Amino acid sequence: MPIHLSSTFAQKSPGVLFNKFDYTRAGNPTVDALEQVLASLDCAKHGIVFSSGCAAITALISIFKSGDVIMVGDDVYGGTNRLLNKIFGKFGFKVRMVDFSNPEWKKSVDDQVKMILIETPTNPTLKVFDIQDIASFAKSKNIISVVDNTFATSYLQSPILLGADAVLHSCTKYIGGHSDCIGGVITTNCDSLKDRLRFNLLSMGSCMSPFDAYVFLRSVKTMKVRVVQHCKNARVIAEYLESHPKVNKVIYPGLESHPHHQIAKKQMRDFGGMITILLKGGFEEASTFLKSVKVFTLAESLGGVESLIECPAQMTHMSVPPEQRKILGIDDSLVRLSIGIEDVEDLINDLNQAFDQIK
Ligand SMILES: *Cc1c(COP(=O)(O)O)cnc(C)c1O
Repeated sequence: MPIHLSSTFAQKSPGVLFNKFDYTRAGNPTVDALEQVLASLDCAKHGIVFSSGCAAITALISIFKSGDVIMVGDDVYGGTNRLLNKIFGKFGFKVRMVDFSNPEWKKSVDDQVKMILIETPTNPTLKVFDIQDIASFAKSKNIISVVDNTFATSYLQSPILLGADAVLHSCTKYIGGHSDCIGGVITTNCDSLKDRLRFNLLSMGSCMSPFDAYVFLRSVKTMKVRVVQHCKNARVIAEYLESHPKVNKVIYPGLESHPHHQIAKKQMRDFGGMITILLKGGFEEASTFLKSVKVFTLAESLGGVESLIECPAQMTHMSVPPEQRKILGIDDSLVRLSIGIEDVEDLINDLNQAFDQIK
């Protein structure tokens, strides 16, 4: 697909286009090609891409109005939390945070709730929620259900086939896969939702650049082979970590020990590349461990071909208040790993030597 860098397109006669494009903020051939690819991967009719995952979430929330309640998980992505509370909160939008793994959450749904936005697996505690159950409950109450599918990817999980109204991804992660581009997408079968999102995109100007669309189009061609390898490596590493004496607990949806393993098995084709561990000890031990890795890179983000490691309490989840972090089980000994596609022996040797540095 060529990169169409034009911001504007010649017209045949006033208001009559040669094809469907007039101005790149509203649409562009390269961006359009990406939208079609990403929609098809989610088994959806429509795809709308944005300049980032957060821009996609902004456009999504903006279809609602002051007084409407948006329901999200209590461990929702920090950027989504910040948008809902610090930006949309100022305009009268209401957020209700619940634990979707506790069936009681359904009791906190009332007429004010207009959208349920779920993430599964969640970040960083990798809880897995039953998409089919949540989506059908939402449908029965006339509530829009959206799944942030960033951690699972379209290759491993198809929320629309499970009944969700729309799917959202931060393309920055597994779709891009090389940690070199920022983008977001929403896919849906619902025509009116698509129209409202397109209108918000056009009005807000959160369009993706054609160059970035080209990069994502190129990346997506290898998404399957990358994700297969992420899953393969993650399984081997999760099992290795489970047997390591310096690890208290390993959280990976593919392990029998994961409390939601059966739900994961039901709705995911494999279990992804994200692993969370709780180290024995506290901040000191975690800090030594994280400073000692050589093949893993100590960095935020995830989903790239290179393995990343981080401490959410000090990095990605720093903005979550300490009391809330405590409820969610995000303490200083919790370490999140984004397993890349390197030789798994290299990764295990690296973790081994880093564990040896802990006194
Ligand atoms: C990264 C991320 C986002 C935000 O995407 P950006 O592309 O960074 O704006 C949203 N949801 C999840 C689950 C993410 O991991």
